[in-house]
Amino acid sequence: FDRLETRTFSIISHVDHGKSTLADRLLELTGTIPQDGSNQQVLDKLKVERERGITVKSQAVTMVYDYDGPRDDFISAFDDGFAPKPGRYLLNLIDCPGHVDFSYEVSRSLSACQSALLVVDATQGVQAQSITVFELAKQKDLAIVPVLNKSDLPAADPDRCALQMEEILGIDTTLPGQEPLLISAKTGRGVDSVLRALVERTKPPPGVEDGKLEGREGPGFRALVFDSWYDQYKGVVSLVSIADGAVKKGDRITSCHTGKRYEVLSLGVNSPEMIPTDVLRKGQVGWIIANMKDMSEAQIGDTFHLSSEKVEPLEGFAPTVPMVYAGIFPIETTDFLKLEEAIQRLALNDRSVTVQRESSMALGQGCRLGFLGLLHLDVFRQRLEDEYGHAILVTAPSVPYKVTWRDGREEIVSNPIHFPDDSERKGKVTLLEEPMVRGVVRCPEEYTGEIMQLCAEHRGEQLDVSFPPTASAIRSVQMTYRLPLSEIVTDFFDKLKSCSSGFASFEYSEDGYQASDLVKLIFLISNTVLDSLSIIMHRSKVLYNARAWTKKLKDIIPRQQFEVSIQATTGSKVIARETLSAYRKDVTAGLYGGHYERKLKHLNKQKEGKKRLKALGVGRVQIPTEK
Ligand code: GDP
Ligand code: MG
Repeated sequence: FDRLETRTFSIISHVDHGKSTLADRLLELTGTIPQDGSNQQVLDKLKVERERGITVKSQAVTMVYDYDGPRDDFISAFDDGFAPKPGRYLLNLIDCPGHVDFSYEVSRSLSACQSALLVVDATQGVQAQSITVFELAKQKDLAIVPVLNKSDLPAADPDRCALQMEEILGIDTTLPGQEPLLISAKTGRGVDSVLRALVERTKPPPGVEDGKLEGREGPGFRALVFDSWYDQYKGVVSLVSIADGAVKKGDRITSCHTGKRYEVLSLGVNSPEMIPTDVLRKGQVGWIIANMKDMSEAQIGDTFHLSSEKVEPLEGFAPTVPMVYAGIFPIETTDFLKLEEAIQRLALNDRSVTVQRESSMALGQGCRLGFLGLLHLDVFRQRLEDEYGHAILVTAPSVPYKVTWRDGREEIVSNPIHFPDDSERKGKVTLLEEPMVRGVVRCPEEYTGEIMQLCAEHRGEQLDVSFPPTASAIRSVQMTYRLPLSEIVTDFFDKLKSCSSGFASFEYSEDGYQASDLVKLIFLISNTVLDSLSIIMHRSKVLYNARAWTKKLKDIIPRQQFEVSIQATTGSKVIARETLSAYRKDVTAGLYGGHYERKLKHLNKQKEGKKRLKALGVGRVQIPTEK
C-alpha cells in the first residue's frame, strides 16, 4: 500500500445546471461505476432526494483517476491498495446541496475541499444560486474551476456566459488555468477535460503525512468528522476527512468533543459503495466505524485523534439558527415515543434541526422543530415519514418572534402557544419584533408588475431593481426586497411561481428583526381554545383572517347534537363569531387555496388513502382532520 496524490473537490451550481449529471459522468469515466447508464444520479442516494430531484445530504465518493490514460479495473485497483503508478490520482468528490436552505451543509462540505467545479448551464448563464455558492467557495479559499455545461443544446451561449463569469463573479476567464471548460454532462463531451483540470489546476490537501505508520512516531493523526449516520447493520458510521497522519484498523482513537475513547473496528472509502481499506491517510476522505453505542457520540464537526497522542482540535462548524418552526405530532397519541425516537435519529444526521418537546391541548404530546427554511422543513417531514413509517401531523410553519418585557428581558418565542395575547401583554411588554429577510427575485421583465404587487401584498419593501445581463435573449429583472419572514413561509413561493408562469426565482437571507404590531389570533370552539391553531400575524390582517377562519371552521366542523360556538379572539376581545346550529345534514367541505387554509391543510395532512378521522379532543366537538 502506498500513497497516491489526492485532490478533494466539490461541484457547485445553481439548481438544474447539471451537477448530479456531471458527477455521474465523472464516476463513469474513472470506472467507479459501470458506463451502462444504470447508475443515474448516484450521489443522490437518499430516496427523498431522488423523488424531488434535489440533493440534500452531502455525499462523498472516492475515484481513482489515471491522468496518463485509462487504467485497469477499478476494484482491482483497490485490491492492490491503489498501487502507485505514475499519473495515478485519488479524487475525492464531495457532493453538496444546491438549495439555499442547505447553505449550512454546503459550507460544511466545502470545508473539506480545496477546489470546486463551478457548473453553469450555458443556456441559462450565471443565476442566483451560482452566485451564492460561488461566494461560499471563495470564503473557503477554494480554487474554482469554471465549467460551462449543456454545450450540446443549440441555445448554449458560452461566450456570453464567460462574460458573465467575469462581470458578475470576477473570474478572469482569459487567464491560463481559469478558462471555462465547455462540456456536455449529458453526452459526456469534454468531461475528461474536467478530470485533467482537477489534476492540473488544483492543489493536493494540506496537512502532514504520517512518517512511520507502523512505529507510531509520525505526526499526530487528526480527522474532521463532517457527516455521520446510523446504519442498521454497521452501527454508527462517521464520514471523515483526514487532515494529518493516518489511521488504521484496531487503532485507539479519541473524540476531542467528548474525550471518549474508541477502537477503530473498520474503515474505508465510499466508491460509491462502502469499500473497506486497511488505512486512511492524510488527504483521504472515508468512513470510520468505531465501537460507538449511540448516534449522539458521532458529533459532526468533531475531531478524532489517536488516544496515544495529544492534538489541537480542527476547526469545527458553527451552529446555525433556525428560521422556521413547526410542531410535529403523531396521529395516534400512544406513538409519541416512537415518533420522538425517529425525530432524534434524523436530527442527529442534520445538526441544523433543533428539537424540543411540546404539548398541545388539542394534539397531545409532540415535538417542536426548528428548520433553516421551508424546503428544509418539507424534506425533513418526508424523511421522517419514511423513517417512522406512520402518518404524522405537521402544524403550519411559524417564525421566531422577539418579545421585550418591561423588565428588559428579551425572549424569542417560536411557538404561538407561548406568545402573549393582547390581554396578557398589557403593561408588561414594551416591544414586539418579527424576523425579516432580504429576498432577491429574478424573473423575465414582463412579470415585473405581478411580482411587485405580490411583494407589496406581503408587506415587502423594495430596496433595489436591476437588470443583470443574461445569456438568453429574454431581458430579466432582479428586484431586492425586505420582507417579513412570516410572509414568505406561507404560500409566497406558490404565488410567486404562479404569477410568473414558473419563471421567477427567489432567494432569501436573514436580515435581522424589525418592530411590528403583532397580534395573536386565538380560536375557541364551544369556549375551548384550539391551541394548535393559534397564529401570530400583523394587526392589519387580523380582522380579515378572523372572519374567514371562523367561517371556514363552521364549514368543516360537522354538526353536533348541540349548538357549537366558534369564536376568534385576540385575547382581549372577540372579533369574529359563528354559531353552528344543532344537527342538520353532515357537511364536509373541502379545503382549497387561500392563505389560512394552508394552516388547516397542514394540520390535516394524513397518509394518503387512509380514510381516518382524528378527533382533536376539543370539548365534545369532533373535528375531522381528514382532507
Ligand atoms: P443539478 O440540479 O445541478 O444536479 O442538475 P441535474 O444533473 O439533475 O440536471 C438537471 C437537468 O439537466 C436534467 O434533466 C439533466 O438531464 C439535464 N442536463 C444535465 N446536463 C446536461 C447537458 O449537458 N445537456 C443537456 N441537454 N441536458 C443536461
Ligand atoms: Mg442534483
